[in-house]
Amino acid sequence: MESTDDERWMRHAITLARQGEARDGSHPIGCVIVRDGAVIAEACNEVDLRHDPTAHAEMLAIRQAGARLESAELRGAVLYTTLQPCGMCTMASIWAKLGRIVFGAGRDDVHRMYFEDRHLDTMDFIRDAFRDDLSLEGGLLAEDCAALYVPRWAKVPRAQRINL
Ligand SMILES: [Zn+2]
Repeated sequence: MESTDDERWMRHAITLARQGEARDGSHPIGCVIVRDGAVIAEACNEVDLRHDPTAHAEMLAIRQAGARLESAELRGAVLYTTLQPCGMCTMASIWAKLGRIVFGAGRDDVHRMYFEDRHLDTMDFIRDAFRDDLSLEGGLLAEDCAALYVPRWAKVPRAQRINL
């Protein structure tokens, strides 16, 4: 069965996430940035590896893409990520002038500890941004992506929660 380009890139992001899971200090969130059908950046979450709370997969990929293109603007590029981007990464995508964000698992698919805010949905960041040329789409291969994370209904001990 032929899959769409979007699916192909999301599967690539899932592979990056799995690599992140397998390595000490990195985590199973994968991100790939594509422009004109070619990968310009790819990363997984390396927060603990780098001792850097901003080292989310999307942030690392945006930095890598900027360095590679020698430009802070990534117009026309598409960012694929396995998990709905947090506020920081969403704002960075807005500043980077990305054209499209496509994510896999959304905040309703996984444990809420992955999200920094209980009420604010980062979808609103995009809706409220001074941009009418950036789209955000979620749910692509959502089940495959959600399988990388702690499920929504799981009881996670307080000490092991990410945002506490
Ligand atoms: Zn983030």
